[in-house]
Amino acid sequence: MDDFKVTPWDVEGVVDYAKLIEQFGTSPLTDELIEKTAQLTKSELPIFFRRKFFFSHRDYDKVLADYEAGRGFFLYTGRGPSGPMHIGHIIPFYATKWLQENFDVNLYVQITDDEKFLFKEKLSFDDTKRWAYDNILDIIAVGFDPDKTFIFQNSEFTKIYEMAIPIAKKINYSMARAVFGFTDQSKIGMIFYPAIQAAPTFFEKKRCLIPAAIDQDPYWRLQRDFAESLGYYKTAAIHSKFVPGLTSLSGKMSASKPETAVYLTDDPEEAGKKIWKFALTGGRATAKEQREKGGEPEKCVVFKWFEIFFEPDDEKLMERYRACKSGELLCGQCKRELIERVQKFLKEHQERRKRAEREIEKFKYTGEL
Ligand code: SF4
Repeated sequence: MDDFKVTPWDVEGVVDYAKLIEQFGTSPLTDELIEKTAQLTKSELPIFFRRKFFFSHRDYDKVLADYEAGRGFFLYTGRGPSGPMHIGHIIPFYATKWLQENFDVNLYVQITDDEKFLFKEKLSFDDTKRWAYDNILDIIAVGFDPDKTFIFQNSEFTKIYEMAIPIAKKINYSMARAVFGFTDQSKIGMIFYPAIQAAPTFFEKKRCLIPAAIDQDPYWRLQRDFAESLGYYKTAAIHSKFVPGLTSLSGKMSASKPETAVYLTDDPEEAGKKIWKFALTGGRATAKEQREKGGEPEKCVVFKWFEIFFEPDDEKLMERYRACKSGELLCGQCKRELIERVQKFLKEHQERRKRAEREIEKFKYTGEL
């Protein structure tokens, strides 16, 4: 019995990612595919690839072959607007931006305000529409190309209904229940929803690539069962690991546990205090013991955050690892350095977010390219 659990709605325990590849039936993102990405884009790889934050895929090899042969591909990702976005939500969007820039492809971002209304008992439709606007600002602030990025909110982009209808005829109740765990009490809107979520994978007659955390993979397994029968490609995906919350390396950063998350709209000062108070370290009981035995970066959330996002320089990351292990670096200093990075990131993000209020119309997808 595994001591971790990963479903689209829940992540528990310390995830064994190699086992997850087996469980989900995906393929490892090999060095060969990563090398090929660098070769085709003629670019230096970002840390997400170099450090295997993206570690698994479905048909990414075919995406690269399509690109090489001039057939191209497009990107699709999304966001369920049920509250403010945190750092764990936004990191995969930075990876998506890299893919868009370096492959020079279109990106569609689906904002599922209808889904969050249907699935979250306590949220009103007005709430999810408000969060949709709020979250779109954070996504634009990542810096996507407005000429190639198309953001749409399901409740506004009603053309999606027409596209979902042929899909809805391909999915029977037991297929959907196997993925979503529906019960007799599930609302009928929830049961239709997988058809809406699959529709953007057919926006272009090219292969679709979805960069997302691996817990989202089950949604797209369903699409792969029927895509070819409708004359489209099975969607491809690359899967990321989870960004841990501040208090534990297990599970993922969660909006339902505010002390584990740094929100993109947090006041930088307050965010600093939160990190100082809650971030788990791999430090020893006393400074003296740490100087003697060294710290344990493998058990440390502070180190993990540097590794995933806040230390782009590989040599400097290794130097931090070494200094920690040797006892030269103590956790107080290390945390302060992380806080500085996070605060700088938040300040810059919040400035770009402010500018996004004036740019939002440029990104809205109307169904026309
Ligand atoms: Fe973590 Fe830094 Fe402490 Fe090492 S010194 S355990 S990397 S916080």
